[in-house]
Amino acid sequence: MGKTVVILGAGPGGIAAARTLRTLLAPDDRITVVDRQDEQRLGVSLLLIMRGWREPEQVAIRPSRVLHGIAEFQQAEVLHIDPDTRTVQTSRGSLPYDALLLATGAELAPDAIPGLSGALENGIAGHCWSLPATLQLRERLRCFTGGRILVVIARLPYKCPPAPYEAALLIRDLVEERGPGQSTEIVVVTPEPSPLAVAGPAIGEQLTRFLTERSIAVRTGEQLAAVDPRQREVSFVTGTRELFDLLVVVPPHSAAAVARTAGLVEGDWVPVALQTMRTKVEGIWAIGDVAAVRIRNNLVVPKAAVFAQQQAEIAARDIARFLGYAAPDPEVRAFGRCWFIAGRGSAGIIEGDFLAEPRPAVTFQSPTSEGFAQMENELAAWLAQDPGASR
Ligand SMILES: Cc1cc2nc3c(=O)[nH]c(=O)nc-3n(C[C@H](O)[C@H](O)[C@H](O)COP(=O)(O)OP(=O)(O)OC[C@H]3O[C@@H](n4cnc5c(N)ncnc54)[C@H](O)[C@@H]3O)c2cc1C
Repeated sequence: MGKTVVILGAGPGGIAAARTLRTLLAPDDRITVVDRQDEQRLGVSLLLIMRGWREPEQVAIRPSRVLHGIAEFQQAEVLHIDPDTRTVQTSRGSLPYDALLLATGAELAPDAIPGLSGALENGIAGHCWSLPATLQLRERLRCFTGGRILVVIARLPYKCPPAPYEAALLIRDLVEERGPGQSTEIVVVTPEPSPLAVAGPAIGEQLTRFLTERSIAVRTGEQLAAVDPRQREVSFVTGTRELFDLLVVVPPHSAAAVARTAGLVEGDWVPVALQTMRTKVEGIWAIGDVAAVRIRNNLVVPKAAVFAQQQAEIAARDIARFLGYAAPDPEVRAFGRCWFIAGRGSAGIIEGDFLAEPRPAVTFQSPTSEGFAQMENELAAWLAQDPGASR
């Protein structure tokens, strides 16, 4: 009888894992992918939507179509994982598994900061870490008539380390195009000692210079403590306070709730082995944003689609071996390459090997028009995996 692999989550990690597993398992082995939504977008699309350059339907794919012929897609809410009976409870019933891959991503936890949820609800604050919030922020920016915009990273880690800096640059680009550029001050505040600290201080200096030249100030070492929506004021753990007209925030992130109930989470994330993506529970693997992939003592792989896809390959090979197949050795990689959109027709690249010793070897290539065209081509290639999408 064939084996069953269940993949929870149809983001970039879950889809990549299903593709690789299909090539490694026998035809009668079953791969089932479960997600509450049959619609996916790359994170970079949220920045393009916020800036007004794309509409949500232009940058969406449907996992049910993408996975056709590869895996069975079930649109359902995952309610509970029972490692003892090797079953997953979903809103559509119970799914037994021989191997389970958790690719459920990160959830946003605005309630972790006093006052933040209220500020987001009344539109004083916004973000582009989910589609509904991105659309709200876009409307808010369209009406913005000038003032002080604070871009605040609430907690580490969060999805896509460069994205808040790109958001600040795109907002600068937008207010200059629309008019209130001269009367708009933009300040990015991060708890890190330098922007993108995971990439090292040289990248931080380069990025700070780049932002300053575009009239964006950077403040480091400040952890958000609370938001006062009435006074339009944020306070930091150091006691510093800052007034704002619009707060653009990276909300705190944590592992998707279902990972927690299965007892897989330590701290906020699911720890996994770098070489295999195995969790501490036999028969369960985790990849992508939900996982904490530790490289060295103080270094964890950043949360980005590019890493989720590499981890999918590692996990798929290890799962195939676990199920008795002669899959190739997992190739342990943590090479990241991320577009850095700086404004209309201009994108750079931040890339590097996070396994390099003694520290990650990361470079920042300044934004160019060729970079922007390549970014658009890569997005188009990703969208093309859904042959049924009409754009
Ligand atoms: C503004 C922004 C820009 C970004 N830019 C880039 C970039 O340029 N390059 C890059 O590499 N990355 C980028 N990212 C990060 C990237 O989007 C994420 O790292 C990536 O999506 C993680 O993939 P994943 O498969 O681990 O999880 P996700 O993509 O989050 O997918 C998880 C899936 O699990 C599902 N799920 C969770 N819980 C349940 C449940 N209980 N029941 C059913 N389904 C469930 C969710 O619906 C979701 O579809 C960006 C992110 C943002 C927000």
